[in-house]
Amino acid sequence: MLNRLLTEKLLDEVHTGVIGVDSSRRIQSANAAACQLLGARQMNLAGRSLVEATLSYELLNLLVEAEQCGNTVERELRRSEATGRTLNARVCHVPRSEDGTEEMYLILLDDVTELRYLETVRRDFVANVSHELRSPLASIRAMAETLQDGAIHDQAVSLRFLEIIIGEVERLTRLLEDLLILSRSESQLPELAPFALDSLLREVVERFQARADKSGVSLVADIASDILVSANRDQMEQVVVNLVDNGIKYTPAGGQVRVSTKLGRSGITVEVEDTGMGILSQDLPRLWERFYRTDRARSRQSGGTGLGLAIVKHIVENHGGTVAVTSEYGIGSRFSFTLPYDVNTKQATR
Ligand code: ADP
Repeated sequence: MLNRLLTEKLLDEVHTGVIGVDSSRRIQSANAAACQLLGARQMNLAGRSLVEATLSYELLNLLVEAEQCGNTVERELRRSEATGRTLNARVCHVPRSEDGTEEMYLILLDDVTELRYLETVRRDFVANVSHELRSPLASIRAMAETLQDGAIHDQAVSLRFLEIIIGEVERLTRLLEDLLILSRSESQLPELAPFALDSLLREVVERFQARADKSGVSLVADIASDILVSANRDQMEQVVVNLVDNGIKYTPAGGQVRVSTKLGRSGITVEVEDTGMGILSQDLPRLWERFYRTDRARSRQSGGTGLGLAIVKHIVENHGGTVAVTSEYGIGSRFSFTLPYDVNTKQATR
């Protein structure tokens, strides 16, 4: 048995709300977690009736059920409008003891808000992936069936259809690759090793030069020297590639994409700024979500999977860094990420 002091400490520390209610449905005691979960203004609920203190008829009904059946009853309460939390409640009967302690009911409250939110995210993700797979698969099937129905004998049509099929397969492959990158970046912390971030940035800029030229976009770099960071080089390359790729993709001919570095108090910041189409302010908060696109047709047409920025965010945050975006519609956008950096040792820290 725990002594009284330990029991009190335990009740103070646990995240589960614990409320003791007597047979007249008055609260005998409630721990800090219970007060917090119920959004109670006063931290002392003792002596108040359960309904008056919790304003929850659902909880009262659960207590009545426990009184009637004499067993433990459990139910998830509806999301509270006042606190925005979803609670799971369990009511257990504590019979009168031999030492004369009267009959009580113990109410245990667990916050399941985050769990329910994550379940919604997972469901949405599965629905989104299915949707993204369905359209290229339907297109491949339609083309193959048309060929089978006789179009195969027309060489020009066959070649055009095969080209479309290959394009759709490439799209599916890109989607699969991005899904794998995202899942890896979410599931494991990166293995870190020191490397020169400035060399990596210059390499990526050089690699994209031909594509930028082809799109009529000028790609320029303004990168400091000797930026030694301790990070996962492959993942950082992925981050920079995704941002530069987007910059070129969403900037019309005649525009510019500029990659630059800034050493600030909070760390080393890499900026990818473009003079492209820009983003409406209402889209900015959702931009880092998986499959969120401001213009679905345009993203598809340019070969996008809608996962590029979600990958950037996950990788950077896994390195202890932050991402940011500012944009003006029709003028251009500035995407950046900051890695923690120790100015004295000239090393990224995590
Ligand atoms: P996508 O594969 O569609 O490019 P991303 O996750 O990389 O997916 O980007 C999500 C969306 O953010 C894009 O569909 C586009 O609407 C918007 N976006 C990203 N980068 C830029 C940019 N540099 N300029 C304008 N819009 C952008």
